[in-house]
Amino acid sequence: MIKYFDNAATTALDKDILDKMMEYFTDRYFNPSSIYTPSISVHKDVEESRKRVADAINAKAEEIYFTSGGSESDNLAIKGFAYANRKKGKHIITSCIEHPAIINSCKSLEKEGFEVTYLSVDENGFIKLDELENSIREDTILISVMTANNEIGTIEPIKEIGRIAHEHGIKFHTDAVQAIGSVKIDVEDMNIDMLSMSGHKFYGPKGVGVLYIKKGTNVTRMNDGGHQERDKRSGTENVPGIIGIGYAIEKAYKDFDKNVKRITELRDYYISEIEKRIPDIILNGDRTKRLPGNANFSFKYIEGESIMLLLDQKGICVSTGSACSSKTLEPSYVLLSIGLPHEIAHGSIRVSIGKHNTKEEVDYLIDSVVEVVEKLRAMSPLYEEEK
Ligand SMILES: *Cc1c(COP(=O)(O)O)cnc(C)c1O
Repeated sequence: MIKYFDNAATTALDKDILDKMMEYFTDRYFNPSSIYTPSISVHKDVEESRKRVADAINAKAEEIYFTSGGSESDNLAIKGFAYANRKKGKHIITSCIEHPAIINSCKSLEKEGFEVTYLSVDENGFIKLDELENSIREDTILISVMTANNEIGTIEPIKEIGRIAHEHGIKFHTDAVQAIGSVKIDVEDMNIDMLSMSGHKFYGPKGVGVLYIKKGTNVTRMNDGGHQERDKRSGTENVPGIIGIGYAIEKAYKDFDKNVKRITELRDYYISEIEKRIPDIILNGDRTKRLPGNANFSFKYIEGESIMLLLDQKGICVSTGSACSSKTLEPSYVLLSIGLPHEIAHGSIRVSIGKHNTKEEVDYLIDSVVEVVEKLRAMSPLYEEEK
């Protein structure tokens, strides 16, 4: 049996969500844009799903735009907003620990004459509000800071960031892909103008996401074509995906208290056992203001890659840094940004616990991590020198 502890990379689609999606693949395959009766009925269901998403974050249905996932939502938010507002200014503020979908969207805007400030973070991964205020310029049009970081789990002070943005007449976008289902979101209360999410990070389907765009926020569409999604996102709707993400977010917040409590307890148990049983380690990210399932440790003197591979042999799935960088040998830029030296950043393992994990699985994980770390350290010349 596979012990899956990489729920920040993707989650298992819930069976009951899949059941609700199935009829839209088969009997009810109709294009929601067509105007005969079966299509009108499918269109109605798409709009109901839009309402489910909106209700979950205190938005209005007409502020919800379906996309192909978190990456597309981030691209649309950053580039679509920049293009629509370039007459107002060319400066964007973001953080240095954003997901590549944000960082690389900003990089491509820089090639077109936009200017981007990448805020630093402190040793726990928080942006600094005074640095944010000091970075604001006359021509700043957008601030984008993630709700929660995918590698170290740190939850940023989103409401305050939004307040600062609005005090200066600047719009605020947040990548909430990791936060949906793990952090309560109220776009009105939290001063959010745009928000990205992705179905497969909260037990919904892959290939479907949402960009919330508050009324009065101008965004240019990034792909030309038909008039779907009120001209913001051309292309025939992914109806099964849209149905799935609507039910998934509704379920995530219906079961929120129960799941978050259980997952947090399992995570704290993992953290305390690892800290008790293994010396010379660092917990990355903030101890309390972190995603319920996230535990990212650096194990000194050894390589994260080796830990991961030995755990894989025991049927355990974890991640070294982010899934996006796990195919390269560079240490995670997020871990370097919180001040870890290269060699320590290299020895890091992210465990992300989900709602399907059991106490027995976590016990097996803990025993396996202890065993693997001891084994690797016994072979490590670095560890020999330090002792
Ligand atoms: C997974 C993830 C994304 C990308 O979402 P996809 O749907 O996989 O494109 C963006 N941002 C964060 C923080 C993520 O964790």
